[in-house]
Amino acid sequence: MKLKKILCALTAAFMAMTILAGCGGEKKEADNKAKNEMKVIRAAGSIDFAPFEFQDETKKEYQGFDMDLIRALGKEMGVKVEISNIAFDGLIPALEAGNIDVIISGMTINDARKKKVLFSDPYYESGLTMVVAANNNNIKAFKDLEGKKVAVQIGTTSAAEVRKIKDVKIVELDTPSICFMELKAGNVDAVVNDRPVNDYFISRGFDGVKSLPDRLTAEDYGIAINKKNPELQKKINAALKKLKENGEYQKIFDKWFSAKREK
Ligand code: GLN
Repeated sequence: MKLKKILCALTAAFMAMTILAGCGGEKKEADNKAKNEMKVIRAAGSIDFAPFEFQDETKKEYQGFDMDLIRALGKEMGVKVEISNIAFDGLIPALEAGNIDVIISGMTINDARKKKVLFSDPYYESGLTMVVAANNNNIKAFKDLEGKKVAVQIGTTSAAEVRKIKDVKIVELDTPSICFMELKAGNVDAVVNDRPVNDYFISRGFDGVKSLPDRLTAEDYGIAINKKNPELQKKINAALKKLKENGEYQKIFDKWFSAKREK
């Protein structure tokens, strides 16, 4: 009888301990999960858009203005930034599906995209220009693209703008590099793409082509954030403001766009 009582008491005590331990464990797990969630921001870009995002085989991390900026923003917000490479036309779907938290990819802020995502404050002023063969004297301005064959990156503002040109034959390709290759091979008459990317491409020694000064649009780049996360939008805007005030933004800008670098 006595033994039974002791056994009963022991079992009860053991059960209580297990339950308590279980609760404690679960709570700890939940805390850790919350902490981890806060600590990492999953960013993505289409990593073929130098000097904003590109791969340098000699370096482990993705390079470029956007890449430095998102890392600096993460540092300012006290979070770790993980960056993945997703094709440009897959970026907004990935954000909407919740697979990533932000897009940083030289993405132009526009009304069509605002229906699907939130944008940070503008962080870079850009616009579209065109590139043609160096010996092409027929195409001088955008109006000359009428009836011509023009390569653009799929899903971009260039694709949307070129489509408006009368009788144009639009060739939509995966990356700006492929567009430039097609131009060099003589398969298209022109490439329309973002001005800083066109200029960088040519400054890096891609010869036989020239960038024309005519600007089709003026566009601002923004960081895209899931519609359900206005808190993150606020945090990013506050961090961006801070980096502009403390000179960090300027440092990154000069690293990629100083006159010295362009040569
Ligand atoms: N700025 C252009 C856009 O938003 C192109 C961006 C890109 O190709 N990475 O459509």
